[in-house]
Amino acid sequence: MRTGVRGQSGKDFIAALVLAGLVFVPEVALGVQRLKFKPGFNLFSPQQDVQVGQEASADVDKQLPLVTDPEVVRYVNDLGRRLATFAPNNKPDYAWTFKVVNSADINAFALPGGFIYVNRGAIEAAEDEAEIAGVIAHEAGHVVMRHGTNQATKAMLAQAPLAILGGILGQSSSLTAQLAQMGIGFGVNSLMLKNSRSAESQADEVGTYVLYHAGYDPKAMAQFFQIIEKKYPQRTIQFFSDHPNPENRVKDVDALIPELGPPQEGKTDSPQFAAVKKRLTSMPPPRKGKPAPPATAGSASPPPPPSSRMTRFQGKGFSVNHPDNWQVQKSEDAVALSTLLENDSPLPGQKEKDRLVTLRERDSLLSLIFIAPEASSDAYKPTFDAMLQSLELQ
Ligand code: ZN
Repeated sequence: MRTGVRGQSGKDFIAALVLAGLVFVPEVALGVQRLKFKPGFNLFSPQQDVQVGQEASADVDKQLPLVTDPEVVRYVNDLGRRLATFAPNNKPDYAWTFKVVNSADINAFALPGGFIYVNRGAIEAAEDEAEIAGVIAHEAGHVVMRHGTNQATKAMLAQAPLAILGGILGQSSSLTAQLAQMGIGFGVNSLMLKNSRSAESQADEVGTYVLYHAGYDPKAMAQFFQIIEKKYPQRTIQFFSDHPNPENRVKDVDALIPELGPPQEGKTDSPQFAAVKKRLTSMPPPRKGKPAPPATAGSASPPPPPSSRMTRFQGKGFSVNHPDNWQVQKSEDAVALSTLLENDSPLPGQKEKDRLVTLRERDSLLSLIFIAPEASSDAYKPTFDAMLQSLELQ
């Protein structure tokens, strides 16, 4: 796997963290809904998603050949922006910029904040507008569910939490440079473009939802993925490494469709799509260039151990002690579970131990997450325990 997180194997790499998500959640927000489209925990603000996306997109534009034909570019942007208006959890800040990469590979990817790249090969392989709309709607799903910065958040928490807590983020003009120092890249071929299967399922759900509400055949997205994988195995390798195929993709999407609303005669094609496809197929074939070099990754060094001197943090409705060489970063996100979690760590070959404590206070929930790589979790336990004991609700 190409990855933006490197150089850690074999090191007893320590990371620990008092999170962050010290947030009160109104209980009403916890109702169970099938289609709730809630993004995962995120230390970035939506505005920072846009900032990261802008910077990464400037790099990507230098590395990938783009189709500049104005009609093609206009069509993809019109279609993409129209679809984005139906995306759940859309934010007014998102940049919604769509570009066509001059490559025969059937691929598409999204950078945080609304920067979506669709390969020429994907448009040429689509048999109608609904299919390419499905690809774009799926990518828009990665944007609005904030999968890139959610994954970056996890990598940061596991890799360099003290740097984060030390306030690295937002202190200088280039977020991507700061992230690169932590070995987290959003460039071409970087870790942050590789989505997990669960992120894929969520992007599929959003994509299908968007297709339905934009008046397209909601089956078009999953069908397109299924058809191209069989029809063009060599040209879809990249797509399915960036977007691993969730099991039962078509079945899951079919099961979702009746929940979206009454059945409708979805639109499938448009004369504009046919015209754009014709324009593309009549252009000279894309040059087969070498794949872009992997995004550069910095090397992070293990953070110093937690200081034994504690300092008090005063939050909204609570206060808690933490080692004085840590700082607290607040997030607007919320978690509502009470459990000990064990996930795959974003660091290769390491498990991550997350301890999530949720306290209920009147009509609010307070969540604390303690995260450390499994190998170091015992070493951090006394600090975490002391912190938990020092917690006071007001
Ligand atoms: Zn995807």
